[in-house]
Amino acid sequence: MLDLSALTELLAQPRRIVITTHHKPDGDAMGSSLGLYNYLIQLGHHAKVIAPSDYPDFLSWMPGNEEVIIYTENTQQSEILIAEAELIFCLDFNALNRINEMGELVRQSPAVKVMIDHHLDPEDFDDFRYWDINACATAQLVYTFIVDALNSKHLINKDVASCLYTGILTDSASFRLPKTTAEVHRIAADLIEAGAVNWRIQELVYNSSSENRLRFLGHCLANKLEVIDEYNTAIISVTKQEMDQYHSVTGDTEGIVNYALSISNVRLAAFIVERSDAVKLSLRSKGEFPANEICKKYFSGGGHRNAAGGRSELPLNEVVELFKSILPNYKKLLIQ
Ligand code: 5GP
Repeated sequence: MLDLSALTELLAQPRRIVITTHHKPDGDAMGSSLGLYNYLIQLGHHAKVIAPSDYPDFLSWMPGNEEVIIYTENTQQSEILIAEAELIFCLDFNALNRINEMGELVRQSPAVKVMIDHHLDPEDFDDFRYWDINACATAQLVYTFIVDALNSKHLINKDVASCLYTGILTDSASFRLPKTTAEVHRIAADLIEAGAVNWRIQELVYNSSSENRLRFLGHCLANKLEVIDEYNTAIISVTKQEMDQYHSVTGDTEGIVNYALSISNVRLAAFIVERSDAVKLSLRSKGEFPANEICKKYFSGGGHRNAAGGRSELPLNEVVELFKSILPNYKKLLIQ
């Protein structure tokens, strides 16, 4: 492992740097990556953000977005950048299988690997770790990394601030989740003072739905929501055919699970969707219920206690049945 002074020394000269984040990046994945990118380019580094896959359109307004490379669309260019990088920043994930085929390329690259993350159980592939599971977002950690570790608050400009604010906003579910501490609000205030226009970012992220997305949401809530009162659990499951029928695109399913969780007695909510490669699960829970444990144990996934995800190769109906069959094991926690 490198120490902070060795990393600071490395960053004292312009370097070839790759920043990457997890598959199907969300607001925190892209916000933290582009926040760090906008910081590094001010120091003359040759930095590139490589996303393993595409991401929602409601994130495409962020400064630096036009420079992002999507691995699946520009594989060769990405491979060269990873092989030639001197440093690789791994943001908002801590296991190389979260970046698909890019994982092996990153593992094999001679670059110094820096992990900045807030998920449980980090894998051992990094040379420098800035990790805290108490952080509400990786963007919060990028902020403290720049301000406290690198002593560079003066370089939090409007672009850096706007991206980091987006990461914190989205991963704290608009400052609503339990990890939204007073410190998080202080950082958000600093970012607003540095130029992030909070109300505008809120609008860009949350008021940019397509008509199709809203109709799809209506379909999910009216026709697909199943509430299992015995276990205080709600499930929404959708087939690929339904996704196609509503012309659903990347990002359209984001947040739907929260509607299921918003039912007052529901402690566990699942959004289960059939994708072309596998069935994807998004779980959300209230209080102490460990959604990540279910994802890790049964669905090759992980995440946080109250927000976790996983996947399965089984057909959709069997995944739903498997999920339901797990609930009795958690009855005590669910009916508290
Ligand atoms: P979402 O439900 O929004 O896809 O993900 C919620 C949380 O679970 C995020 O923190 C995300 O990083 C994590 N997560 C989602 N899918 C997976 C997965 O397949 N594996 C792991 N380890 N974490 C996941």
